[in-house]
Amino acid sequence: MEILKTIDLCKIYGKGETKVEALKSVNLTINEGEFIAIVGPSGSGKSTLLHLLGGLDRPTSGEVVINNTKIYDLSEKELSIFRRRKIGFIFQFYNLIPVLTAEENIKLPLILDNKNIDNNYLEELINILELKGRKNHFPNQLSGGQQQRVSIGRALAYKPSIIFADEPTGNLDSKNSKEVIELLKLSVKKYKQTLVMITHDPNIASQADRVITIEDGMVK
Ligand code: ADP
Ligand code: ADP
Repeated sequence: MEILKTIDLCKIYGKGETKVEALKSVNLTINEGEFIAIVGPSGSGKSTLLHLLGGLDRPTSGEVVINNTKIYDLSEKELSIFRRRKIGFIFQFYNLIPVLTAEENIKLPLILDNKNIDNNYLEELINILELKGRKNHFPNQLSGGQQQRVSIGRALAYKPSIIFADEPTGNLDSKNSKEVIELLKLSVKKYKQTLVMITHDPNIASQADRVITIEDGMVK
């Protein structure tokens, strides 16, 4: 079953002398439950693609369809809500809120919606991510690997059907990197989620169900 597709997705930055065609008519389809690795040289358009797939930017032309919703037909406000509830994001730098504890950071997407998280689910998430002894710690009291696991928890808080990760281990040493990928794989498998990840690490790419190579703004 298809969860995401793009139709002739194009992104142009700037104009005149500074014009960059970052994506040139990308067509791709991603199925439910797939783990996709996006690879390619620096500057080839990977982040641009991931941001457009996740509704973080707007394309110059073309469509992104997630669960039969053309996301760029939504208003800014609708898109912002769609993003928060249906999509999980994990970034290289964890983007945690420094004045909130690990547990509060995980609950943040729901807090922003004035919703209560299912406490059994929260506990399960904290256990899976091996954060049990760290839930009342603040980000600056956590290691890089622990902070990234908190950001995974935040990405999963709403039980999204699709998760986008932009170099999630880019800032971690190899031991933490391995641990974070293992836990991420474990949780997406448990909750039957689709995972789309940019990575430079061939070891991580080799674990994916499918590798998509981007070169010069095109799928190779
Ligand atoms: P990658 O993630 O593969 O390194 P990016 O998607 O970040 O590639 O960038 C693709 C191209 O678009 C590059 O040439 C980059 O310089 C350009 N680019 C990316 N973001 C912007 C921006 N906000 N404004 C102008 N050009 C950009
Ligand atoms: P709004 O949707 O109200 O514009 P933002 O999208 O700017 O809010 O997000 C507010 C905070 O929530 C940011 O710190 C951001 O990193 C985090 N956030 C937003 N969307 C998600 C998401 N899908 N998963 C996890 N954290 C998110």
